[in-house]
Amino acid sequence: MTEGYIKFNCNWEQKEIQIQDEIFVQLEAARTQLYELGLIGMYPDGIGFGNISVKSAGSSSFIITGSATGQFAKLEPKHFALVTDYNFTLNTISCTGQTKASAESLSHAAIYETFPEVGAVVHVHSLSLWEKLLNILPTTSAEIEYGTPEMARAIRELISEMKSDEKVIVMGGHREGILAFGQNLEEATSEIIKIYNRLSK
Ligand SMILES: [Zn+2]
Repeated sequence: MTEGYIKFNCNWEQKEIQIQDEIFVQLEAARTQLYELGLIGMYPDGIGFGNISVKSAGSSSFIITGSATGQFAKLEPKHFALVTDYNFTLNTISCTGQTKASAESLSHAAIYETFPEVGAVVHVHSLSLWEKLLNILPTTSAEIEYGTPEMARAIRELISEMKSDEKVIVMGGHREGILAFGQNLEEATSEIIKIYNRLSK
């Protein structure tokens, strides 16, 4: 373990959350597309990967897939959590739900915090896309590992320098990790799928 490593902490209030039907339908539609392409899923060792989130306008809280939900083809509202607060420096989030929020919530928060107009973030894993896009699309430093305060800071710095039509970043220090964002789930998801269709042939 690296010296100075700050462990990710989740202050979890285990309680049912209400997700508007309309939002839930959008979450499921987006996630199903990514799941069917293998961009969200589970490794043979049982570890899940990939997550999606959606923020409501005018609010700083967001709904994100829960940790350890990657293996499910279909999700239910109980598989989502509401992130109500976060602290990049302390590597901590506060969340409510029947499941804990994804450990990658701070990467999503970093994007929402930088661009208030962003309404959705998707995080997928793909070794082939990651290798093809590394340092081609905006990429965070290979030195910076996922789940650290440095990753959230690196994402904020990187995206604040990007052109307004760029919506995808590669996580250099998080092998296979790619993030996309947009005004809504449809836009964020289509950014990834466009790339997938172009490069996965
Ligand atoms: Zn990841």
